[in-house]
Amino acid sequence: MCVGVDRNKYQIQIPLPPKIDPSVTMMTVEEKPDVTYNDVGGCKEQIEKMREVVELPMLHPEKFAKLGIDPPKGVLCYGPPGTGKTLLARAVANRTDACFIRVIGSELVQKYVGARFDEGVGGDNEVQRTMLEIVNQLDGFDARGNIKVLMATNRPDTLDPALLRPGRFDHKVEFGLPDLESRTQIFKIHTRTMNCERDIRFELLAKKTYSNMTCN
Ligand code: ADP
Repeated sequence: MCVGVDRNKYQIQIPLPPKIDPSVTMMTVEEKPDVTYNDVGGCKEQIEKMREVVELPMLHPEKFAKLGIDPPKGVLCYGPPGTGKTLLARAVANRTDACFIRVIGSELVQKYVGARFDEGVGGDNEVQRTMLEIVNQLDGFDARGNIKVLMATNRPDTLDPALLRPGRFDHKVEFGLPDLESRTQIFKIHTRTMNCERDIRFELLAKKTYSNMTCN
């Protein structure tokens, strides 16, 4: 521990607060998430892929060792905002009993680059540099270790191809806008705990959301 000492005798005077790595202060550790795969509407393929590349190596690392392959260290989830990327990451953390540490990319940018994240080319460059820093950190992880990095973005176009090289975020999962069936499911999920009429036609509601969206 860090202590304050007397200048002459080096006698310990006071204990000092522990030194905290500034990069840790922006990370928020969430209590064990209570989200399960059942709380994610639609996203069938996405759930399957995440289970295969994140859940399986965490719960059954021996399968990968036996096959002699390294599981991915990270997965890149991309797609429009609010389509369930973070939600699914939480569900995976819950299923694997993992601690969920959330870091907001734009805050990382501010810490590492010391500049404000703004729209346009300048901002993108800074994000780029931050992402490269993440790449460096990622290379330090053991592939068979129990840390997985799930990255979520709605701007995959700003990412450096270096991030997507094998052994880094070599698995990409695309999240799209939900189709009619998924929207119906999402309505059902979110009304589960609500006190509402028994004969609500969720599919009709889902159909009504069509005009605001660019999908079927
Ligand atoms: P992002 O894709 O931007 O990470 P989130 O996963 O944080 O979006 O979604 C925001 C909120 O919207 C979630 O907390 C959840 O309440 C709701 N939501 C988004 N997608 C789904 C989904 N597929 N099923 C159920 N709820 C969803």
